[in-house]
Amino acid sequence: MKIHEYQAKEILKKYGVPVQDGIAIRSIGEFDAAIETLRSRGVTQFVVKSQIHAGGRGKGTVFNKNNRQEVLVEGGVKFFGGNVEKAKDFASKLLGNILVTHQTGAEGKEVGTLFIAEGLDYKKELYLGILLDRSNSKNVIMASTEGGVEIEKVAAETPEKIIKVWVDPLAGIQSYQARELAFGLNLKGAAFKDFIKFITALYKAYEETDASLLEINPLIITNDDRILALDAKVNLDDNSDYRHKDYEALRDLNEEDPLEVEASKSNLNYIKLDGNVGCMVNGAGLAMGTMDLIKLAGAEPANFLDVGGSASAETVENGFKIILSDPNVKAILINIFGGIVRCDRVANGVVQASHNLKINIPVVVRLQGTNAEEARIIIAESGLNLIPADTLKDAAEKVTKAMKVNA
Ligand code: GDP
Ligand code: MG
Repeated sequence: MKIHEYQAKEILKKYGVPVQDGIAIRSIGEFDAAIETLRSRGVTQFVVKSQIHAGGRGKGTVFNKNNRQEVLVEGGVKFFGGNVEKAKDFASKLLGNILVTHQTGAEGKEVGTLFIAEGLDYKKELYLGILLDRSNSKNVIMASTEGGVEIEKVAAETPEKIIKVWVDPLAGIQSYQARELAFGLNLKGAAFKDFIKFITALYKAYEETDASLLEINPLIITNDDRILALDAKVNLDDNSDYRHKDYEALRDLNEEDPLEVEASKSNLNYIKLDGNVGCMVNGAGLAMGTMDLIKLAGAEPANFLDVGGSASAETVENGFKIILSDPNVKAILINIFGGIVRCDRVANGVVQASHNLKINIPVVVRLQGTNAEEARIIIAESGLNLIPADTLKDAAEKVTKAMKVNA
């Protein structure tokens, strides 16, 4: 699960990680109050930061939501010093409009929230990231003197400038490892000591929040030699939801695909993709295999959809509804393996849903496993335009052909 920068900073603050202070607002009416509150905390310079689930905001472009050709302003993050009037004008251009960055794709993201933050003067930008290194079952901390730029670029062009330290998850971060990172970043004196505290607290936050990624870019050394997180990206591992009931409140449904939100309400595991062949499959592995075969047959899957191990008539109908809400879908492939679920029950579900939803695009059905024979008869006798298939290859080829005829 992705969260916004301001939410990430709130979490990090609780772990004693020094962060750039700020207040989130959702309408321009809240702007003045946010400035007043920050002033009362001693803040004299301001930065306006758009909150979207994507990076590269600083170098992004803001387009008018109602006229996508019109550029309103360059940059989705800006430093204004003490010029509150200019900051407010910028804020009003961002809210409700579309920010396009190299991470959002051309469609961009609507800016619904702004982080009005303290503007800081600093002399150095560093990079710091923690994530899971699956290849050796350890957490890896990456640090670089090349902060403020994309780490992928540093990795490609000057990989020697990235220092990596692997932390055993049971032992946790060791003080020699924290020092190794501080030496690698050429830190001295107070900055060295502060960094040790910083990385220790940050690692604790990474562990205890069950984050799958924690990235501070840039980590700054201010002109008065403080080390703090100017930016913060935290991805939380959805598998740990049960340990963190409070995470639900961090979700921003505006950032999620509406179809995916709808699917999650029916406990369907749905990811929207760009192709034309809708897929309904039980089991994530079979769903992946089905998508591969659709591609091999020359078409592109419109989605990943795992209806779960115990697909009922109702799940099948909900699955259909979600798939059909995507206007790109020109044909559907149903590939269900009857293990716990019986194929005849799924077949009845397919027939019932086809009637209820008046489906008018080709549907290829492959049902194998328990009661597959009974299922075949139900499909054949339904009188509906359902195309039966035996093998997975056969199914993928039939749906590709049907899609091309229907396109
Ligand atoms: P990103 O572009 O989405 O990664 O957003 P960041 O939070 O990293 O901000 C982008 C850039 O804005 C930073 O790299 C800085 O150059 C600039 N910036 C953000 N906050 C401040 C600030 O307090 N002072 C100054 N001088 N620049 C800032
Ligand atoms: Mg950044």
